[in-house]
Amino acid sequence: MRITCLGTCSGTEPMPGRHHVSIAVEEAGGVYWFDAGECCSHTAHNLGIDLLATRAIIISHTHIDHIGGLPNLIWTIRKLEGRTTDSARRIAGRTVPLLIPDLRTWEAAVGLIADPVAWGVGLDFHLTARTYQDGVILDDGVLRVTAQHNLHLGDPGPDQPWRSFSFRIESAGRAMVFSGDVKDIRDFAPLISPCDVLFMETGHHRVEDVCRYLADHETEFGRLVFIHHGRAILADPEGEAAKARAILGDRVTIADDGMPFEL
Ligand SMILES: [Zn+2]
Repeated sequence: MRITCLGTCSGTEPMPGRHHVSIAVEEAGGVYWFDAGECCSHTAHNLGIDLLATRAIIISHTHIDHIGGLPNLIWTIRKLEGRTTDSARRIAGRTVPLLIPDLRTWEAAVGLIADPVAWGVGLDFHLTARTYQDGVILDDGVLRVTAQHNLHLGDPGPDQPWRSFSFRIESAGRAMVFSGDVKDIRDFAPLISPCDVLFMETGHHRVEDVCRYLADHETEFGRLVFIHHGRAILADPEGEAAKARAILGDRVTIADDGMPFEL
């Protein structure tokens, strides 16, 4: 599994060198997207990630810092499909699931890229958008993704669907966990232990609190990668890294845009 942090910023105003959250997972010739913050397709393409190998797009929740790049991602795949001369790379005829907690957001995104007169969205591939709830939401023989709702958007109440999720992503005996946005690390603690790498947001948390929780609960994980950076990391990444490493040692990384990880 090759994991690339395409964007590492939380939903702040624009920050130098950082864009909003998106992670690309490459495995067995396929590309899987986890969140689609601004510029994700631009960043991925220029890093050499093959957008035509897209197998699934999974959105944790529909805040703009997690979906702002979604219409552009679809549009860019379509553009690249039209440009490729390599028939083996074409995405035409494939079905790509888009897993998103709120279909209204997807319908709005389609409205941005559709040409209602000429050809609709004009896709050569089948994009099937659907909501999901807790449990295994994707298992295509390459990647297995388990979703766990969290309290970032609160409790929706009886008979209402959960709208914000964390993920456990497994392939070939390895596991990564992506927090999404969470109210508390306890929201998704059952997904974490054991895993090879935990991608944890800090837009709503202090790094020392996260590290202390993981240390105190003897959580089994290989690496901890901070993403979705809040203002403390944005202001002083080295100082925040030092706080984290004082608790967990050199297993902690503060990710930058474009940073890859091999599992
Ligand atoms: Zn966010």
